[in-house]
Amino acid sequence: MARRPIVDLAHGAIIEYRVQRNALVRQVREGQKMVEDLCDAHFNLIRAAKGVGRLMGELCPVCSKEELRQVVYVFGDKLSASGVCPISKADLRRLERRELPVTCYAVEVCIGCKFNHLLRKWHAGGQVEQRPKVAK
Ligand SMILES: [Zn+2]
Repeated sequence: MARRPIVDLAHGAIIEYRVQRNALVRQVREGQKMVEDLCDAHFNLIRAAKGVGRLMGELCPVCSKEELRQVVYVFGDKLSASGVCPISKADLRRLERRELPVTCYAVEVCIGCKFNHLLRKWHAGGQVEQRPKVAK
């Protein structure tokens, strides 16, 4: 069974892409798509998966040899244009609590065959707590 995603502070919809991913994997198994179509992870994504990827408790659906790893990228104003890759759940929570809104993407990666697919997307941050105004 797959681990629960690390999506604690999302607001709005959490968009899941597992149905799309399962359809693509099925197309590979049935010969309608090439393995290379799904197994094209960029070097930097593989490096992130090895460095900060969380093991998902699920074998790769393509090669069945490696355990999938989840990598999260966070994008938002005043963050790196290439996104920030939180190194821990606490780091992700800190980013999700920013005053400025962020968009988070969780990607599953196989470091063996380079399978990769977007798992889910969610929005967070941008919700500044309103303190009650003190009358003067
Ligand atoms: Zn694989």
